[in-house]
Amino acid sequence: MQIKKETEVAGGGVPTAVQLEAINAQAKGKLTAEQVYVFSLRLCDDQVDRDGERFDTAALPGLAKLFIGKTGIVDHRWSSDSQVARIFAAEVVQENGVSYIKAWAYIRRGGTADEVIADIEAGIKKEVSVGCAMGRSVCSICGSEYGTCGHQKGESYDGAVCCAILKEPMDAYEFSFVAVPAQREAGVLKALGSRRCLKELAEEFGTQAEYRALVQDAELGRQYQKLLCDEVVRLCLALSLGVEEPVLRSMMGKASAQELMQMKSALEGRMAEMYPVKCQLSGAVKGDVVESGFLI
Ligand SMILES: [Zn+2]
Repeated sequence: MQIKKETEVAGGGVPTAVQLEAINAQAKGKLTAEQVYVFSLRLCDDQVDRDGERFDTAALPGLAKLFIGKTGIVDHRWSSDSQVARIFAAEVVQENGVSYIKAWAYIRRGGTADEVIADIEAGIKKEVSVGCAMGRSVCSICGSEYGTCGHQKGESYDGAVCCAILKEPMDAYEFSFVAVPAQREAGVLKALGSRRCLKELAEEFGTQAEYRALVQDAELGRQYQKLLCDEVVRLCLALSLGVEEPVLRSMMGKASAQELMQMKSALEGRMAEMYPVKCQLSGAVKGDVVESGFLI
């Protein structure tokens, strides 16, 4: 999945000798300290952000490496001359219990680049939008792949707020400078790459009533599946298959409604074969058992 986040530019200046060496490892030509402007960027960290997501702390070193050599563009203009900056170093920094990727980038002085440098110095182009691709997103509550378990980002479960943890860095993309505050007010960037939940979309597009109806239907579906699951477990126990109830419940809990319906129908067939004579009687008994099963 593709991830897009906003971050900040820290102060800049003339490169050190070590930095210049790293810059020249990336640059085609041999640059002098006077020709480049160096600044640092705080890229992804491991804290929960506005999207209810956070990067896995263990994924940061791998992600940092992927950012080295990536170029930065100004205001999303994708022409080659707008690629003014390039990341030449990145490492994970720990500060007050927070881990984050600190990157250093350089800009070659001269021409339009000087405007960008002046803007950075003046604090105007302070915000940076970074993009990367992560292989997995898992639920912080139960560890399942996010979106498969029913836990929702931002919702509280027994006092713990759910978030999606982004793991397995795959790629890092160009970054872009954002003139603050115009872009922030427009809210353009967040809509670009972030994945949003249905509830947010419903609020934005004024379809809350349909969303609530869907949620109710889904709840009914879950109740039906629970009843199906109970019935299949009851049939398995009645047929004395030799499997313990907790094992059956765990298995059936993972089955889909369609699978449970098939199981139920097959087990009912087996039941009818095994107890054909008692058909009338067992029908009556069956009713009682079902009744008590629901009471539990
Ligand atoms: Zn979960």
